[in-house]
Amino acid sequence: MELSTFAKTNTAARLRAAASRGALSHALIFSGSGDLAAAARYAAAALECTGADKPCLACVHCRKVLADIHPDVITVRDDEHAELGVEVIRGVRTDAFIRPNEGACKVYIFPDCTRLNEKGQNVLLKTVEEGPPYAAFLFCAENPSVLLPTIRSRCVECKLPPAEAVGADDERVRTLLRLIAEGHEAERAAFLLRLEVEKVPREELSALFEGVRVILADALCALCGVPPAAPRDAQALRALLDSRLTRAQLLGTIELLETYRKHCDYNVGVGPLLGGLAVELEENL
Ligand SMILES: [Zn+2]
Repeated sequence: MELSTFAKTNTAARLRAAASRGALSHALIFSGSGDLAAAARYAAAALECTGADKPCLACVHCRKVLADIHPDVITVRDDEHAELGVEVIRGVRTDAFIRPNEGACKVYIFPDCTRLNEKGQNVLLKTVEEGPPYAAFLFCAENPSVLLPTIRSRCVECKLPPAEAVGADDERVRTLLRLIAEGHEAERAAFLLRLEVEKVPREELSALFEGVRVILADALCALCGVPPAAPRDAQALRALLDSRLTRAQLLGTIELLETYRKHCDYNVGVGPLLGGLAVELEENL
């Protein structure tokens, strides 16, 4: 999967949300049957990114991670052996204590943890547990039980669903954007109500709010004379700029979506959440 395709998935939205508020764990396990390598690279970019929305996929750090030439993002390989040799892992352990060259983090990607045997994991454990704060470890393991419980307990697991659908989310993002731009109050409320009726899970709502928010942010930048170098959705951006939304309305809506996205992290009911958003959007637009 292309990274630009992965960037549209729910998992990517969750990683982006965590990274942008500085809460992305430095020890992650990517499991499940989705594209684990793409997820790990995306997370590495998020850790190194100097943009506001992490990863922006446009700053020099993101571009280097994408091109696999970032000096501080290391894919741990051992082409000589079927399993990662213990001397390779010891090398990682030593290297982790050398400060990053140019990035904020030293990121070690283990692209296939079936090749990381028990001995290697034990060598690595202490560094994962109490390594320097800038060291990050990204483990790709379709089945996370290949990792020792001691390693797993130190990591946040990010399970990727099979061939994550990107189409449906995009459609929702475009619909909500259109309803915000066109100012149809009743239609907007009906759309939000439908999400409740369809029992859309909070994670998907979070991804929807975030998807809409970043495009509104692009529009606000453009209105302020700083058009984004790489707009997330050029067509949607144009429609927003053609609408009569003011800077204040855009800013208000961006803040609302951020607030409601945060609510999604807590155990609030989807009904009150969507109802509250509908009312607040109406007041703001
Ligand atoms: Zn970036």
